[in-house]
Amino acid sequence: MADETGRWGFETRAIHAGQRPDPRTGSVIVPIYATSTFIQDGVGGVRDGGHEYSRTTNPTRSALEEALAALEGGRYALAFASGMAAADVALRTLTRPGDHVILGGDAYGGTFRLLDKVLALWGVAHSSVDLSDVEAVRAAVRPNTKVIWCESPTNPLLGIADIGALASVAATAGARLVVDNTFATPYLQSPLGLGADVVLHSTTKYLGGHSDVVGGALITSNEHLREEFFFLRNAVGAVPSPFDSWLVLRGAKTLALRMERHSDNAERVVRALVGHPKVGKVYYPGLPDHPGHEVAAKQMRRFGGMVSFSVAGGEQAALEVASRTKLFILAESLGGIESLIEHPGKMTHASTTGSPLQVPGNVLRLSVGIEDATDLVADLLQALGD
Ligand code: PLP
Repeated sequence: MADETGRWGFETRAIHAGQRPDPRTGSVIVPIYATSTFIQDGVGGVRDGGHEYSRTTNPTRSALEEALAALEGGRYALAFASGMAAADVALRTLTRPGDHVILGGDAYGGTFRLLDKVLALWGVAHSSVDLSDVEAVRAAVRPNTKVIWCESPTNPLLGIADIGALASVAATAGARLVVDNTFATPYLQSPLGLGADVVLHSTTKYLGGHSDVVGGALITSNEHLREEFFFLRNAVGAVPSPFDSWLVLRGAKTLALRMERHSDNAERVVRALVGHPKVGKVYYPGLPDHPGHEVAAKQMRRFGGMVSFSVAGGEQAALEVASRTKLFILAESLGGIESLIEHPGKMTHASTTGSPLQVPGNVLRLSVGIEDATDLVADLLQALGD
């Protein structure tokens, strides 16, 4: 099957990889195997499917994992109960007390919090650096650096890192490059193909795609890493339920279509925001004057559905804009079919307050959904006071 999926296009993999009709019933759609345990044929006689206990493996989750591996072009995928559970397992596998992690200067607040408030207590140090500056990353490497943790585009300021260049910095340093591909999705960007060791997803976002499930994933082609991730996931039990696995699998089938539409709509929104008198800066890697535009164009298929912008009137004005939208729902998260607006400084990135990763108070982040773009633009313009 792996060979076969390797020849398929992205959309075909999304619908068929790991999703053969159920051999027992003929069900075309992978069933939700709501079971905690599996019969054994005599003590230790695990049946052909290899399933024993659902913390360890479950058929619905295995189908999701096969699909995610095929979409990211990796050999192995492991699904988790959340993106943060995946991050925790990745970081605790790749580091030991006394090690050091390099994190982007604009990383997801929860990843920063995990390193700063949890792993720091166990003796894992971290430092933040602008990942768009490859020489700065090289200079930040310490003898004990074991992980370079990269988001591209970053959350929430849409910064771009050259994944191929960071992969060679990591290889020279004897460190692993982990790419959080949540914003770009495997449809728009393939970090493993660019040299990353591990890809992380919050499947809560575009992969699930409908704001109805929380989940995460790690994808790698390195068998040893896969075994270690699998061991720790099983040891700590950070697994998604069969139903949650099924929701992500269902969402992933339409990822390509949705990402095209998210990108179309984001471009329309960006055109309306750029040059608007109440808007300061628009952060979108598709803009030719974005400092990472060339790198983004090289490593991404399109530029995605996330847009951030600063409100010229400052923080209070930004908070008012966020409270006036009617279609853009004021909520955390991103990547669903519906459009969302949020204030990173007080919401998703509040945990970075006072740190070098603090987000300017006048910045708002949009997750541009797949509604009619004309309605979305009209909603933003009325919220800006037009
Ligand atoms: N990575 C990024 C880029 C995110 O935006 C998020 C959540 O917002 C996470 C990781 C964490 O994922 P989860 O909320 O599924 O734990």
